[in-house]
Amino acid sequence: ENFDRLEKTNMSSDARDQFLEFLNGNAYIIAALTAVVAMVGHFFLNRFMMTRATGKKEDGPASAGAVLDVDEFRPFALQFVEKVSHNTKILRFALPDSSATLGLPLGQHLSLRIVPDGDTDEVRRSYTPISPLDARGSFDLLIKVYPEGKMTQFLDKLRVGETVDVRGPKGNFRHDPARTRKYGMIAGGSGITPMWQVLTELLKDTSDGNDTSTGPIDEISLIYANETEDDILLRKPMETLAAAHPTRFRLYFVLNKPSENWSSGRGFVSETMIRNEIGGPERGKRVLLCGPLPMNKAMKTHLSNIGYAEEDVFKF
Ligand SMILES: Cc1cc2nc3c(=O)[nH]c(=O)nc-3n(C[C@H](O)[C@H](O)[C@H](O)COP(=O)(O)OP(=O)(O)OC[C@H]3O[C@@H](n4cnc5c(N)ncnc54)[C@H](O)[C@@H]3O)c2cc1C
Repeated sequence: ENFDRLEKTNMSSDARDQFLEFLNGNAYIIAALTAVVAMVGHFFLNRFMMTRATGKKEDGPASAGAVLDVDEFRPFALQFVEKVSHNTKILRFALPDSSATLGLPLGQHLSLRIVPDGDTDEVRRSYTPISPLDARGSFDLLIKVYPEGKMTQFLDKLRVGETVDVRGPKGNFRHDPARTRKYGMIAGGSGITPMWQVLTELLKDTSDGNDTSTGPIDEISLIYANETEDDILLRKPMETLAAAHPTRFRLYFVLNKPSENWSSGRGFVSETMIRNEIGGPERGKRVLLCGPLPMNKAMKTHLSNIGYAEEDVFKF
């Protein structure tokens, strides 16, 4: 039939003869190519239909779909523990295989679920991994252990090989590089973990082919509040980042129980400290908050007094 159709075209008879000869001589190759094209077409059509049917992308093994689920809790085994300070630990949890990534979007967190020993009620709490978003094979949580804390007491006693139920991603944070060029950040205690995740990602050098979808960002100013110097989490790596990015990352520590020779901020984070370190509202600037409830409330009041609109302030 195809040959008949060719006969009806207005190709010159020489060209037509050569083409027919080519088709005859390469029938097997053409049949094989046709089969490959049909298989590839079938594969993409299938993916398209599945995406339409479920509203989700059918993800590969190193993606959110494969590792985390928004609704269903899945068990993750503790792989390694590192004591960081008198009340803080890094817990490393294994992913299903060494090439898998957690698939957490920037600024999102996980929900952990446990049923404490001798209890029937489950406990759920939020945690933001401090490992890079593209880390493969495992993810790290920095946990501040509270003497009466239900979840953190459980995590403190968790042994390597034991599991915790995790689901995610959770959270409403979205970074829009077209809208936000500067961030002010105010964190208290373990509230540093979402800030750490966002700032390490946005300060990444994108000139060497790294993902540019998130940044780079023009400026980040972080005010980090704690009780004592020993309570400051991630101090070394943050100071290293500040030294590496002197024009893009400013870091200001505040202690409410400082030693005599402490030279940075003292007391609670004040309006003056925010004016000095983060400055007033500007087009393209947002302020992120993560700390204990009373601190977040006080910071919102300070920011409002300085002139920030509600939509320029985000609380994790
Ligand atoms: C988005 C998000 C991300 C978070 N990421 C982390 C993280 O990476 N690492 C981490 O350690 N925590 C993180 N937290 C806090 C975490 O969710 C828990 O609130 C915390 O671990 C305490 O849980 P718990 O069950 O042990 O204590 P609870 O049983 O809830 O509380 C026991 C007592 O501990 C004290 N307490 C509890 N939480 C705080 C607090 N934040 N500040 C001061 N006192 C407190 C209170 O006095 C309370 O009476 C995050 C919270 C949010 C919202």
